[in-house]
Amino acid sequence: MDNFAALVDLARYLGATEAVTIDPADIVIDEHFAHMCAAPRCSGYGQSLSCPPHVGGPGALRRLLPDYRAALVFRVDVPRNAAFSGDRNEILALIHEIAAGVEIAARNQGLCRARGFAGGSCKELFCAEHPVCRVLDEGKPCRNPQIARPSMSGHGIHVARLMESAGWPRNGQTGTTEDGLTTFTGLILLD
Ligand code: SF4
Repeated sequence: MDNFAALVDLARYLGATEAVTIDPADIVIDEHFAHMCAAPRCSGYGQSLSCPPHVGGPGALRRLLPDYRAALVFRVDVPRNAAFSGDRNEILALIHEIAAGVEIAARNQGLCRARGFAGGSCKELFCAEHPVCRVLDEGKPCRNPQIARPSMSGHGIHVARLMESAGWPRNGQTGTTEDGLTTFTGLILLD
């Protein structure tokens, strides 16, 4: 696999606890996770361009993966009490910012089809003060193109299996470390 060390370093610099590149073929996609966005319905469902039903979903991601040489996976580990506190949105916003930052840097160095994925509704994280998503409601550009990225869940990405592929086995589906830290994850496809 090509050397994407500078982008891995950038992910860490932007706030990732750890980052590695894996073979995109090792990304497990399962429709179940995309279905969970709709039932039980997530508060972000249908609210932005980044969440179902407005993203390509598992089928689109499966078609995309063969076009990519690597997937940069990163994680942010936080204490469990922070993960389920008022800080949660701040942590999720950081996941978007790292995914977008690495994607933009990759594109700037010639990887023109780099694509970042994050977790958490960008409507809730970045446009909460606005009644609607500007893209969906007005057909205008996103208010936050430098930070908002599409949902991993909405594309059916199996996060626990992604952790395994990255060499970071976790306890349970949501992922806690052996130290009891909770892990949040993002992904950037690199062409
Ligand atoms: S305008 Fe706001 S809600 Fe819509 S895609 Fe951009 S960040 Fe998300």
